[in-house]
Amino acid sequence: MIRELWITKIAAHMNPKWNGQFSCFDLVAKTDGCSRSVVQVRDIAIGGNDFVVMAGPCAVESESQLLRTAEAVVAAGARILRGGAYKPRSSPYSFQGLGVDGLKILRKARQETGLAIVTEVMSEEDVEVIAEYADIMQVGTRSMENYALLEALGECGRPVLLKRGMTATLEELLRSAQVLATAGNPQIILCERGIRTFETATRNTLDIAAVPVLKAVSHLPIIVDPSHAAGVRSLVPTLARAAVVVGADGLLVEVHPSPEQALSDGNQSLNFHEFRHMMADLQPYLDLQYPGLHKDEPQFGPQLLAVGGAD
Ligand code: PEP
Ligand code: MN
Repeated sequence: MIRELWITKIAAHMNPKWNGQFSCFDLVAKTDGCSRSVVQVRDIAIGGNDFVVMAGPCAVESESQLLRTAEAVVAAGARILRGGAYKPRSSPYSFQGLGVDGLKILRKARQETGLAIVTEVMSEEDVEVIAEYADIMQVGTRSMENYALLEALGECGRPVLLKRGMTATLEELLRSAQVLATAGNPQIILCERGIRTFETATRNTLDIAAVPVLKAVSHLPIIVDPSHAAGVRSLVPTLARAAVVVGADGLLVEVHPSPEQALSDGNQSLNFHEFRHMMADLQPYLDLQYPGLHKDEPQFGPQLLAVGGAD
């Protein structure tokens, strides 16, 4: 209780507008006495006492590409498989995704590995069909302010992973979360994926402070996507480590069997070997962040024995 009072005071210090006046995002605001939301996805609790890694390719490209990736990421300790079947691309000439065929491949990967599925929904017309296959509905950075989509997700019966718009403030992100909550869906996971700044050395600028700010101001879980923030794979493990240390509830990471051949976002995708290393490298930081938890087993104990597959 004392801690929660302290947290809301911090929020008020950050922004005088947040001095108990959360009218524009009151349903998702952290107020005195309210507990943190835990989003339950099958047997996985996001925002609880666990660090949840979601990993997989940017786009579902083929059955073998996705199944091999699913086996590799589950063996390294990921709990949720990502993969876009409907892709928002900056160019109309780029690969647009496999649509329903991609969703069917995702479902097969879930059956074979037990991983839950997160995949993007771009349009309100696709909500129903994607909700049949997905465990979590991803709203991408370009859709954060698509209110028709957010409203349609209000009653989809699935948690929503809401990515921060690339030019959105944190308050705007919370307002979009409020639209979802008002439309009837309180199961929301926020995602910091980097914002557009004047810096060109990285694809986006990871706003690492977004994590503690959002934790102070909102009760929703928050995860970090280091892949879209960095734009290059060499930076992904370092940004992932930063996410653990600032208290994120999980990660969304792009992994591909052969990133150089990926149809999208290959530059920022880790191969299997790199992903395994990243996960092992995070362990001591998780031990610090969650002392006493899973004492006898590593946080990232593989859920399956490693299944074949090359690095
Ligand atoms: C993605 O996750 O592949 C994606 C398109 O992300 P973002 O919306 O953050 O660009
Ligand atoms: Mn991508």
